[in-house]
Amino acid sequence: MDLRVGVVTDTPLGPERFLSAYTTLRLGGPAGTVTTAVHTDEAVGAVRAATASGRRLLVLAGGSNVVIGDDGFDGEVLLLRTRGVEVTGEDASGVLVRVAAGEPWDDFVGYAVSSGLSGVECLSGIPGAAGSTPIQNVGAYGQEVAHTIEAVHAYDRRADEIRVMTPEECRFGYRTSVFKHDDRYLVTAVDFRLSRSGDSAPIRYAELARSLGAAAGDRVPLRQARDTVLKLRAGKGMVLDPEDRDTWSVGSFFTNPVVPAAVLESIGEAPNWPGADGTVKLPAAWLIEHAGFPKGFAGDGVAISGKHTLALTNRGSGTTTALLDLARTIRDGVRARFGVELHPEPVLIDCAL
Ligand SMILES: Cc1cc2nc3c(=O)[nH]c(=O)nc-3n(C[C@H](O)[C@H](O)[C@H](O)COP(=O)(O)OP(=O)(O)OC[C@H]3O[C@@H](n4cnc5c(N)ncnc54)[C@H](O)[C@@H]3O)c2cc1C
Repeated sequence: MDLRVGVVTDTPLGPERFLSAYTTLRLGGPAGTVTTAVHTDEAVGAVRAATASGRRLLVLAGGSNVVIGDDGFDGEVLLLRTRGVEVTGEDASGVLVRVAAGEPWDDFVGYAVSSGLSGVECLSGIPGAAGSTPIQNVGAYGQEVAHTIEAVHAYDRRADEIRVMTPEECRFGYRTSVFKHDDRYLVTAVDFRLSRSGDSAPIRYAELARSLGAAAGDRVPLRQARDTVLKLRAGKGMVLDPEDRDTWSVGSFFTNPVVPAAVLESIGEAPNWPGADGTVKLPAAWLIEHAGFPKGFAGDGVAISGKHTLALTNRGSGTTTALLDLARTIRDGVRARFGVELHPEPVLIDCAL
């Protein structure tokens, strides 16, 4: 893994300053400056300098979980482009793999699958960088990174030191962690503990099990798990494809709301996942559809994806203002119909819902 000092390059004024160039929504106005860090020391140096000078700094990796206002970000944007995957140890409990924060996540998953390392195969096809996965405890098809993260290496702006954080310190929850909505830490690398096995971790997600012709709890060959997940995701517009505007999104725009069981009783027949503490998780997509917002429901240059009710997409001529108007209409409609509050999953930068 290459973690040496390199050169921070200032992007010249021009279209590159428009943050729409760096987000999967292709939305976001201009930044004050845009710099690129290809080595960890550069990234830490940029964050340290911004802290010392009091300048605003926004770290962007894949730009697949941010909504940035049309007026842009009046500060420094740091594009994280550090790369590297390195096996750092192996014992009876697994193989430790250290991944640089800027490493494209799906490249790492592909590497794990082709190396016979099991534990992240169901997270195939998720856009963005490896270092971003702890931020919201990325999850899909029955796996989340909290299952395999051994440690997160992070620069702590407050203490001005690099820390190696345990999963407990990361406080992983459903699409959240200590890192989300807080710029105290710059994640520099993540250690994953994977199992040396040609087979997947036990399949936990019913739709995936059905597609695999397997039962819940079965293991299947890693490659089969990855290919099946990629196929399922592509059918929902959940794999980036520049030609397909159903993928010009942040993935799911809303998290699935977790509510007291009594709320479910007032709704009646709705699919749900019971929690341990008298709560239930409701599928936001079901609530949205049943509140009268079908796939393809459109705003001004923006629309609900034609393939997935939870994805709000830019059709090419959209703006962040229009996207948030659409999100507000949906959120208010669901609240009026079911009395349930939907919350955005992406990080909103210099804009609000
Ligand atoms: C088509 C599509 C499908 C998706 N499917 C899923 C899915 O199945 N499951 C899921 O959980 N998510 C999904 N997402 C959301 C997104 O891909 C993930 O959250 C991803 O981990 C974001 O990575 P990124 O590099 O793009 O982060 P960015 O969008 O660049 O950043 C997101 C936030 O993290 C911060 N950040 C980024 N890197 C660092 C760092 N190194 N240190 C500190 N802060 C940092 C940023 O400042 C920002 O606040 C999907 C998105 C799209 C577009």
